[in-house]
Amino acid sequence: MSKEVDVVVIGAGPGGMTAALYASRSNLSVVMIDRGIYGGQMNNTATIENYPGYPSIMGPDLGEKMYAGATQFGAEYAYGNITGIEDHGRTKTVHTDDGDYETKAVVIATGSEYKKLGIPGEEEYAGRGVSYCAVCDGAFFKGQDLIVIGGGDSAVEEGVYLTQLANSVTIIHRRDQLRAQQILQKRAFANPKIKFIWNAQVEEITGDDKGVTGVDYKDKITGEQKHVAGGGTFIYVGIKPMTAAFAGLGILDEQGWVKTDDTMHTSVPGIFAIGDVRQKKLRQITTAVGDGGLAGQGVFDYIQTLSDETTTA
Ligand code: NAP
Repeated sequence: MSKEVDVVVIGAGPGGMTAALYASRSNLSVVMIDRGIYGGQMNNTATIENYPGYPSIMGPDLGEKMYAGATQFGAEYAYGNITGIEDHGRTKTVHTDDGDYETKAVVIATGSEYKKLGIPGEEEYAGRGVSYCAVCDGAFFKGQDLIVIGGGDSAVEEGVYLTQLANSVTIIHRRDQLRAQQILQKRAFANPKIKFIWNAQVEEITGDDKGVTGVDYKDKITGEQKHVAGGGTFIYVGIKPMTAAFAGLGILDEQGWVKTDDTMHTSVPGIFAIGDVRQKKLRQITTAVGDGGLAGQGVFDYIQTLSDETTTA
């Protein structure tokens, strides 16, 4: 049997929780569905220092505070893995592994996931030294020499975090300049535990029966094959949208990000998208929260138009 609700928010990260707060505060019935614990990527972030109001806060703590705010006007959180959305015009059916929801409006807030490198050793040693989450797995590698692959905000921020646990952290980057924000770069360059390997094309993650032993790479300048030793390898080579379930709706761009207007409405009336999953320039908690506020108000305005149509029909 399907459940009926005014608004289904898919994903309970910072964007989804803000949309749920705004929509429920406008007296709409709201359910946030997530296949994990609420908080999204904040749960994998040690310290957040670019969210206003908190000079520095642990990611999971900010998630708890947002959840308390999001549910104070009656929005509910439910576990579920979304398998698709059916658009019937004035109503939508949201399919999950655990049953269906009939709703007037949907907010897609599924976020992104870390990309894989697709090199030998990555799959083989996943969970045995290959990780995509320093906060989750860093403690397994206390006192070891670790390797981080990537040059963006995630690689540099998580590399700095790992120095609290590791003996050393080697950041391997494919160019000779980092992509990360200047403040993160400065912090990494000033950290005596961090070394850099530049212009390196990583080719294989090596290991033995105990787990990862290091990374083989090619020096792109000299063409030499080289090896760096390390007990754990953390991979941060970018993100991709979690939008497979929405492929049939005609709302994605070529890379799979959801296209919206500046009120967060997609081209399908009643379907909104917010946060990291959206085609946008700056993917941050602050921008996800801003998107969430707009979508929370947007669903209210949209549902009003449905009632107006009924009244005038
Ligand atoms: P990103 O910004 O896309 O950076 C990915 C990095 O991996 C780049 O340095 C890229 O190199 C490198 N790379 C990509 N493909 C590779 C490959 N096949 N082999 C080797 N290296 C490869 O991804 P991200 O760092 O995960 O960040 C994702 C988003 O979250 C960004 O918008 C970021 O600003 C945001 N974020 C913000 C914060 C914060 O504000 N504190 C923290 C984390 C993330 P090139 O530089 O050569 O392209």
